[in-house]
Amino acid sequence: AKESGRNGVQFFRQEIGQRVQNRLTMETELRQALQEDQLELHYQPIWQLTEKCIVGLEALVRWRHPQKGLLPPDRFIPIAEESNLIQALGQWVLNAACRDMRSWRNQGFESLPVSVNISARQLFHDDFTSSLARLLKEYALPPEQLELEVTETIFLQKDTTVEKVMNHLKNIGVGLVLDDFGTGYSSLSYLNRFHIDKLKIDRSFMAHICQKEQDAILTATIIRMAQSLGMQVVAEGVETAGQELFLMEQGCDLAQGYFYYKPQPIESLRDIFVQNKLC
Ligand code: C2E
Ligand code: CA
Ligand code: CA
Ligand code: CA
Repeated sequence: AKESGRNGVQFFRQEIGQRVQNRLTMETELRQALQEDQLELHYQPIWQLTEKCIVGLEALVRWRHPQKGLLPPDRFIPIAEESNLIQALGQWVLNAACRDMRSWRNQGFESLPVSVNISARQLFHDDFTSSLARLLKEYALPPEQLELEVTETIFLQKDTTVEKVMNHLKNIGVGLVLDDFGTGYSSLSYLNRFHIDKLKIDRSFMAHICQKEQDAILTATIIRMAQSLGMQVVAEGVETAGQELFLMEQGCDLAQGYFYYKPQPIESLRDIFVQNKLC
């Protein structure tokens, strides 16, 4: 028994060692990926439900790994967040989104705001707001065409810190979307204290909206609350006509999900713009 116990510990150590090693390898590879331009943005259209037109796009990063193929963000964003790489990665994403927006505008697609996901650590980095302002100028973009998607975790920072950053962003004129709404920090007071344009209802609510009454009630309540506070509501993870119908009955403004389009590589977007009504 003693013997197997010791082996157990040893096995455990090896296991941990292996995981640390994998992580370090991924970190090194990710640093290299940034230098060698292995990241790419895919875009998912966001729909205006009553007009059935595309109001904008969400940028979602992927990593075209030379051996492992196309990796989803869940495989590398956490690693970037735990190292300092999230700063550089976040800058890469913002720059690529602005570059793509500029190119679409040059092709005559003038009103296609892009939402970009921003990690809390990225948002509170000293240079964030000033480099954001510089980027918008560099690509000559109207600030309101860029929206930042942040999660409720940003409110875990000191109020004064949050307030400072939020005021900067408001002055710059970019839009602010509260992502994954309903899954995180539970105080609602910040909805009034800070300037937030849109709430995005987490897709976990959408999954059972047609079967579980509680999820339907919560979704309907979030929609009404947001609207009475003057915010738009985006439902994410819409996969069925039944979900769309429910959202429309509840007066939800905007939706995105596989029911409309999966996130698309840049080459597919032009056709999508041409085949659909843009709002
Ligand atoms: P998120 O911001 O909540 O993005 C929505 C996720 O749901 C995306 O996954 C999208 O592909 C997926 N999705 C969209 N519609 C549907 C649907 O109808 N059904 C289902 N099952 N899924 C749907 P993705 O692209 O794998 O991104 C995962 C998360 O990674 C994002 O969640 C976001 O938190 C993070 N992320 C993505 N890009 C970036 C980025 O550039 N920077 C940072 N910091 N995080 C990012
Ligand atoms: Ca998002
Ligand atoms: Ca989300
Ligand atoms: Ca998320």
